[in-house]
Amino acid sequence: MMADYYELLGVHRNASADEIKKAYRVRARQLHPDANPGDSAAEEKFKQVARAYEVLSDADSRARYDRFGEAGVSGGSGGGGDFFGGGGGLGDIFENFFGGSPFGSQRGPTGPPRGEDLETTADLTFEEAVFGANISVDVRTALVCEDCSGSGAGLGTQAVTCSQCNGVGQVQRVRQSLLGQMVTMSACPRCGGFGKVIVTPCAPCSGKGRVITEKNYAVDVPAGVDSGSTMRLTGRGAVGERGGGAGDLFVRLRVKPHARYVRDGFDLITEVEISIAQATLGVSLELATLDGDETLVIPPGTQPGREFMLRRRGVPRLQASGRGDLRVIIKVVVPLKLTDDEAQVLRLFAQQRGEEVAPADKGLFSKIKSAFS
Ligand SMILES: [Zn+2]
Ligand SMILES: [Zn+2]
Repeated sequence: MMADYYELLGVHRNASADEIKKAYRVRARQLHPDANPGDSAAEEKFKQVARAYEVLSDADSRARYDRFGEAGVSGGSGGGGDFFGGGGGLGDIFENFFGGSPFGSQRGPTGPPRGEDLETTADLTFEEAVFGANISVDVRTALVCEDCSGSGAGLGTQAVTCSQCNGVGQVQRVRQSLLGQMVTMSACPRCGGFGKVIVTPCAPCSGKGRVITEKNYAVDVPAGVDSGSTMRLTGRGAVGERGGGAGDLFVRLRVKPHARYVRDGFDLITEVEISIAQATLGVSLELATLDGDETLVIPPGTQPGREFMLRRRGVPRLQASGRGDLRVIIKVVVPLKLTDDEAQVLRLFAQQRGEEVAPADKGLFSKIKSAFS
């Protein structure tokens, strides 16, 4: 348990940013390890003062500290929170969707580094995206070496504690800064930060504790995904070297277009062609929706471009309840060719309504047509 950050710096709780900075400079000089060689208490205090300044010099983290104390600022500055937490471990449970950049991979303060995050692309049919699907993806990944169980040490041998860092994996480095000499921690060059040195490397993994291999994962794709949706499968990325935890697997989804349907968010849009007679007199049509055939009643006098809405026949809302709508846009098709009988009927129709139409001179028509083509 650390002392109060304000007390550590010797300032009031309402001190200005400038006062905090000044107080820190004074304390840091007093407590600097170079000024107190061999004084481990001073060194510890120096670290605490540095931590206090780190938190209080940033307006956001200072505000969190003021409200929640250390709990508000622990777990790394700016801590992203437990956004991807939980997870029951029932196979490839879908973890989360996100638009932009997720929280970066984090390395713990100690221990071997986490493995790499992996990314792959999966193709889905339109229907699979709408209704969800169980698919499988192949990824080139790193798995724990079975011969050494991830330690990297050869059969019958063990990794030994690093003599340079005494197993800590980090060494102190002194560098110059605005505040005078600063002590920073960096990865131990002898053991590479692992804290242990391998004398006899495991042959199959060359001492890395992991092997590169192809692996197939089943992925449960929920209903309602779309092209560009990305799924994050926590812990399905590459495992780290020498016992490091696994990264995450990101599956980017790509949805094939449908012959008759397009998506507008969670709505589906389709176009239905009807004839001028159907538009004029009305008709009852069978419409092949993604849920099966539905009857669509087109009333008499339906105009081109009119939109009919079939409620809740669209795409299920991702990670929510309900569905979008199916929007049917009516396209009235004017016939390009008529038989003589059909033309005659239509001429009669025009005549009845007192409408003027072009005379039935095929020669003239073909001339006009050629002039425009
Ligand atoms: Zn091995
Ligand atoms: Zn070391």
